[in-house]
Amino acid sequence: MNDILIKNLENAKSVGIAGHIHPDGDCIGSSLSIYNYIKLNYKDVDVDVYLEDYPDKFHFIKGSDEITNNDKSDKVYDLFIAVDSSSLDRLGYGIKYFESAKKTICIDHHISNEYYADEVVLDAKASSACEVIFDLLDIDKINKDIAEALYLGMVTDSGVFKYEQTSRKTMEKAGRLLDFGVDTTAIIDGAFYEKTYRQNQIMGRILLESMLLMDGKCILGYCTKKLMDFYNVGKEDMDGVVDQLRLTKGTECAIFLYETGDLEFKVSLRSKRYVDVSKIAVHFGGGGHIRAAGFTMNGTMHDIVNNITEQIELQI
Ligand code: 5GP
Ligand code: MN
Ligand code: MN
Repeated sequence: MNDILIKNLENAKSVGIAGHIHPDGDCIGSSLSIYNYIKLNYKDVDVDVYLEDYPDKFHFIKGSDEITNNDKSDKVYDLFIAVDSSSLDRLGYGIKYFESAKKTICIDHHISNEYYADEVVLDAKASSACEVIFDLLDIDKINKDIAEALYLGMVTDSGVFKYEQTSRKTMEKAGRLLDFGVDTTAIIDGAFYEKTYRQNQIMGRILLESMLLMDGKCILGYCTKKLMDFYNVGKEDMDGVVDQLRLTKGTECAIFLYETGDLEFKVSLRSKRYVDVSKIAVHFGGGGHIRAAGFTMNGTMHDIVNNITEQIELQI
């Protein structure tokens, strides 16, 4: 066990925690595992979590109804912990408190991490930030709520234990969490496979209109604002689309983009074996991992796709 987090917690009377904007299961699990750990073991510490609103499917994690989604107070924290976030601008509501805090720690697993905190615990080989956090907490002081939060993060970011980064350590840590009575079936179905009718419809439509590029080595899927409005879906309903595109046989690379504003698109990239998509995302001002990365880009869809495919072709 690495005692860096525990040591810092012992000297703090107030702690703020934040994950990245557009929270995913790893970011939520990371933030709330630490939050619940502090609530359980450091009863005198004043602790807050800053996260944007996130999908209902993650609300079973304890603490979900205690999250602050604004930056309106003037609190100055003794310690601020950033999780699963490669750069400061990813912290959203947390940025203000991170900047004013007396001490900051970043716990992450993104290869593109920008070392923006006083202390950085980075393991770019770890499949999730929750896997990194597992090593920072005393296993004898966790309970089922904390185990569920950590398990959710591990499941989410490892693609249910199938992505390349999934190691023996990942499996061993997840295994330890089962001892706390985590309902693995419910978490895996709920976080990964269950879709609303509308989510299935939009995914079907995007797959239907997807196209193969580069002799079938790359697949492109896209969604306009108009289409999102037609199916009455938001960005939170796009989870899993890029992963389905990635599964297309024969492809190395998947690109998925959806319109977030006027001439603005959120781009997700995935690869299977040799394309380093993190490099491409960093090139366009984003970040991520070797096999999963993303960024936001301005321009027409045509221009954006041209720019991205040019970068992918350099590696294919
Ligand atoms: P997704 O494609 O699922 O949104 O993200 C894949 C990975 O890339 C995640 O680990 C996520 O944190 C990272 N990522 C996605 N979008 C951005 C972005 O705009 N900036 C940075 N720095 N990382 C991103
Ligand atoms: Mn994340
Ligand atoms: Mn993560």
